[in-house]
Amino acid sequence: MFYAAWTMGSGVSYREEPCRSALNRVRGMPFGWSLNPYMGCAHRCTFCYVRAFERRADRPSDDRYGTSVRVKVNIVERLRAELARRSWRREAVAIGAATDPYQPAEGRYRLTRGCVEALGAASTPVDLITRGPLIVRDVDVLVAASLRAAVAVTFSIPTLDPDVWRTTEIATAPPRQRLRAMERLAVAGLRVGVGLAPILPGLSDDPAGMASVIRAAQGAGASYAWCNVLNLRPGTREHFLEHLARDWPDQVARYETMYRGRAYLPDAAQIPIRRRLRDALAGTPLDRPRPMRTPRTDVALPMAPSIEQLRLAL
Ligand code: SF4
Repeated sequence: MFYAAWTMGSGVSYREEPCRSALNRVRGMPFGWSLNPYMGCAHRCTFCYVRAFERRADRPSDDRYGTSVRVKVNIVERLRAELARRSWRREAVAIGAATDPYQPAEGRYRLTRGCVEALGAASTPVDLITRGPLIVRDVDVLVAASLRAAVAVTFSIPTLDPDVWRTTEIATAPPRQRLRAMERLAVAGLRVGVGLAPILPGLSDDPAGMASVIRAAQGAGASYAWCNVLNLRPGTREHFLEHLARDWPDQVARYETMYRGRAYLPDAAQIPIRRRLRDALAGTPLDRPRPMRTPRTDVALPMAPSIEQLRLAL
């Protein structure tokens, strides 16, 4: 079957491929379903955990990841049909667990916007995560959806350090731009929060740096925060370490030691980082996540979703 394909000036190519279903069942998470209008992400972060899933699916996880993005051109139509089923129970839907829903293609296709509109019309709670300031375009539909069901928007901002950001997040907008977007949403009355994801040991785990993200997010209206620490599963591991050797050669031995024979840091190494977040949150209004109110049940947002939890959302 022939599907349309085209290439943006950035060199990223887009394949317009319809999907069979819009919603993916998720178990063991605060949301029951996930939804991704795109597959592949033009932001191409060096640490992206999705590279591991690409590797497992026999797709490129190296520099080619994110250079070809699938666009599910019929996803809004499919979603409306799925939400119209009598069996639909209005469980929370996570948008953006496997790809950024506000990556550049969204400017043209407006699929995330259409999905939020459809979910709002169906009074279905939405839990969206993004690094894309383009989301401000959709304040109107997000607010409309929030009047019918709980809506939470998490901005991924692992660091404010310009070098660490630009070196590891190849094509994302600057963190300060994300904070401005967060503020626009908060001023509009939306519930927003920050995910320091992922924290890179030795590069973005210093207490002052983490505290500066929390302070900035609080100033931009965030009402919750969480963090997770880099994991290096096969696919992500090779790519990240290759870039680390180029960008911070002095860190390579440390990472090889820390992650030798494992994809996740042991608790002993993660706990001090989580403690830094807790210290940064102490005394701020962000120190306790509020439960997400839904028409049927309360769903607490995760303080720190693990890779296993996120994998379930794919
Ligand atoms: S924005 Fe998210 S999904 Fe996209 S490359 Fe970065 S980490 Fe991966």
